[in-house]
Amino acid sequence: MPHVQAGNVDQAEIAKFEALAQRWWDPNGEFKPLHELNPLRLGFIERYSPLEGLAVADVGCGGGILAESMARRGARVLGIDMAPAALQVAELHALETGVQVQYQLCAAEELAQQSPATFDVVTCMEMLEHVPEPAQIVTALARMVRPGGHVYVSTINRNLKAFLLAIVGAEYLMRMLPKGTHEYERFIRPAELASWARAAGLHTQTVAGIEYHPLDRRFSLGTDPSVNYLARFTRPASA
Ligand code: SAH
Repeated sequence: MPHVQAGNVDQAEIAKFEALAQRWWDPNGEFKPLHELNPLRLGFIERYSPLEGLAVADVGCGGGILAESMARRGARVLGIDMAPAALQVAELHALETGVQVQYQLCAAEELAQQSPATFDVVTCMEMLEHVPEPAQIVTALARMVRPGGHVYVSTINRNLKAFLLAIVGAEYLMRMLPKGTHEYERFIRPAELASWARAAGLHTQTVAGIEYHPLDRRFSLGTDPSVNYLARFTRPASA
């Protein structure tokens, strides 16, 4: 594998998240969609990986919405991110709520190198579409999960509908997200994600759609991955 440390990080992307870090836990702020999505993705993970007692790495954890919720379910969670202010917010929030979560400023490639085949579950949610070389992150996720373990990824599909809903709709019409949050070219088709996963030695098990219902302004898990989607991979036990 090419030896890459923090090179696979778009500093302009990180700066966007840094600037908004203080808003992370405002349920009605810029990260409202992440708060709304969280019960769905937590439920999806627990359907296959009951979290009690598991070692989990949450890559691109940001302010810790998912990381903290997994820790509450009894997992030992390490959250990593490349945005220091987001990690500070995550740490403070965990202190306030009394939930045990470990946070570290660390690139995915670095953690994979330091702790290969270590985690029962690896999650990487809403991050790959902000990274220059997402395939390389997927390789790192595959390295850090233990044989027999699970990797969960969510991102945004790349097609006209995704452009219209995730960018025009969410950023410009409904103002659910700040303008410029997402770049269309960085969106990822499920087949692309699956081929990177296969190249990294992972098996694709499930691709689920996260469907948005604009009339009642809520998300649900379904079968249509045409905009937001969640994928589950396994690392073969014999690897
Ligand atoms: N996973 C969290 C946060 C998603 S926001 C959740 O779903 O609740 C995207 C996060 O990815 C931000 O915190 C941003 O700082 C982080 N990020 C972007 N590029 C990264 C990279 N190359 N390495 C690690 N984290 C990155």
